[in-house]
Order: sequence, then C-alpha cells, then structure tokens
Amino acid sequence: LGIRNRTASGSYNRLLALQHIRRFPGISRAALARKIGITAPAVTPIVSFLMDEGFIRESGNQPGKFGRPSIGLELVENRAYTVGLHFDHQRFQAALVNLGGKLEDSRSVVVGDISHPDELVETLTGLYRDVTSPLPDHAEVLGVGLAAMGPIDVEHGCVCGYSPDREWREYPLVQELEGRIGHEIFLENNFSAMATNSVWAGDEGCQNNAIYIYIGYGVGGALIVDGRIHRGSSRNAGEVGHINVERDGRPCVCGAKGCMENYVSYRALVSDLGPEMADPDVLLEGFRQTDARLADWLDQAATALALALGTATNLLDADTILYSGLFPDEILEHLMKTAAERIPEYVMHARPTMPAFIRGIDYMPALCAATLNIYETLDPENGSSLI
Ligand SMILES: [Zn+2]
Repeated sequence: LGIRNRTASGSYNRLLALQHIRRFPGISRAALARKIGITAPAVTPIVSFLMDEGFIRESGNQPGKFGRPSIGLELVENRAYTVGLHFDHQRFQAALVNLGGKLEDSRSVVVGDISHPDELVETLTGLYRDVTSPLPDHAEVLGVGLAAMGPIDVEHGCVCGYSPDREWREYPLVQELEGRIGHEIFLENNFSAMATNSVWAGDEGCQNNAIYIYIGYGVGGALIVDGRIHRGSSRNAGEVGHINVERDGRPCVCGAKGCMENYVSYRALVSDLGPEMADPDVLLEGFRQTDARLADWLDQAATALALALGTATNLLDADTILYSGLFPDEILEHLMKTAAERIPEYVMHARPTMPAFIRGIDYMPALCAATLNIYETLDPENGSSLI
C-alpha cells in the first residue's frame, strides 16, 4: 500500500466516497452518489470495491424518505491503523489511531534533555512498539507520522529546530527511525499537523482561508488556504510567530530579531516578569488581581499579536484566525479579544471584512501526527494510491 506522492488513476471517486462515508456514517448509496456528484448506477462499483477491500460495510436499514428502508454504509474503523509520534523538550509521545481517526491508544514518557539524537530514535522506537504490539497480526499499519518543532528539513528528514547544535540539526532522524520501525515516515511541523487535524475533522473556521496560531513556549502557526493546509516549498509555511514586529528588536531563538514570539509567548512572559509566571496558578491569580506589570505585559503582547496577525491577514486575505495555546483560558481569551480589537489598525482599512477570531480545539500532537497519514492517504486531492 502506498501512502503518498504516488498517483493512481480512477481512485479519486473511491477516496471521495470513503471520505463521505467517514464523515456521514450510515449514508445511503443514493446520498453518497449525490455527494460525489455521480449517478446512482455509477456509485455501485465504487461501493462494491470498498466493501470487497474491507474498508466499509453496510450498517443496517436506515429509514428512507417514503417509508422504504435504505441500507446505510459505514467505515470499518479497525481495517487499518496509523501511528503518530511527537516529541519536544519535555515529552515523547506515541498515538495509535484507527482508520476513522479515533484514538485507540497512546503512550508518553517524560524525558529531560537528551544528549544524543540516537537516544531520541531509541525512545520513539520504543513508544512505537508499545502502541503497536497489542495489535493483532492481521491489523495493518498504514503509515507513521512524526510531528516535530520547526523548522524541519523534509528533504533530508531532519528536525532542525530542536537544538542549535550541528550534530542535531543535520541528524537524519527520519531515515534512522524508518530503519528501526520499518515504515515510511511522514514528517510534519507540529502546528501544520494540528491544523491538518482540524481541517480533516471539519472544525469551524477551517473551511476557507485561516491563520492558525498556537501560543506556547514559542508561537507556532500554520496556514489554511482554500480549506487545505498550505505547507510551502520546504514545508515550513505559517510561522506567524516569526513575523517581525520590531525593527532591530529582541534576538529570537530562530536567529532573526524582533520576531513576534519574543513579545507574546510563555517564554517571553517568564523572561520579562520572572520564573514564578511559569506557574499557571500564579499567572491566573495575577491576572484576576489585575497585577499592573502583567496587565502592561498583556497589553503590549496584544499589540504585537495584532500587528503580526494583521500583516498575515493582508497577505493571505484570511477570513479566520484560529487560535489555541498554553495560557490559562481566561488569559488567552483576554489576549485574543484585545488583539481582535486592535487588528483593524494593521489591516487595510478598505477591506470588506475583518478576520473572525475562533478558538481552535487542543488536539494531542501525537494524535495529529497519526491522522496526518489518514489525511494524506484518504484525501483525493493528494492522488493517493491506497485504493
Ligand atoms: Zn524568530
């Protein structure tokens, strides 16, 4: 079974059918034909093929329009699985996801800073074995996704953002992992993986043009263009955290200066106001008591956010800012509300609309890494050769 970058003619409608059956369990053949935009007779061989291959089954009688029962179709979720791997400076994680995109199992280990990338491979391989070993022999693992902090080098399979050391930046992580677990690995930036999952799940705000932003220790992002993930030429698109908000500003971990994340992230907060701010309870207490330093910091952070997101909006013609993050909810909401109030200052005034700010869903990164494979495999636009 091929996963990506291979084309097969004639499979487009099968993949489309599979997508609709996944999204609308119990859908009738007639409704499926309408959704795909083909005739009822034309849908018959598609359904037969998918059933013969074990991807779908009939789900019993559904009440029909005129009292006639019609037989529904549903996905056979345990037909196959995908595995997602994720790591950052604190935690290593693996997730097992079924064909329907549901989480079946996950494992994680907390690891401090590790000294050599071989250890990384060792730990991720162990987690992969942990989640796949309970699977029965006939269960098929379609693919493995790896979500990592950017920037990434997909061509060489390197995760360049984990450590500034050359030994790490140039380590062929994907190749080493593929050798150990015997599967092709789909490497993706963390935040593109999370946004991909939102697109795939059909979440609110992902249908047209959106800027996805995650305010964590740094600030990550992704771009959704015409309802699809826009990855860019080296798969590093969407780094909204590294939009410049101050000429000759603060030096950034990325090597540039004045990047937005140096004024908005958790790391910036702790660096500006002290290590006690790393404790969410202390942070929340300060917010509720209207601590003057914190209020001032949030005020400036909101302006930096508005400036960067306004710039990105002008560039992308975005209709949505999809946000999520590590800050306690009250603070994140306050920050984004203030940024939304200020964004018109930085967006072309004659634009017909301003982007809507929508709270995104916090998905587990390893789950997103796993669904990447399903998305890549089952998305007709990717020319997958799965079926
Ligand atoms: Zn930067």
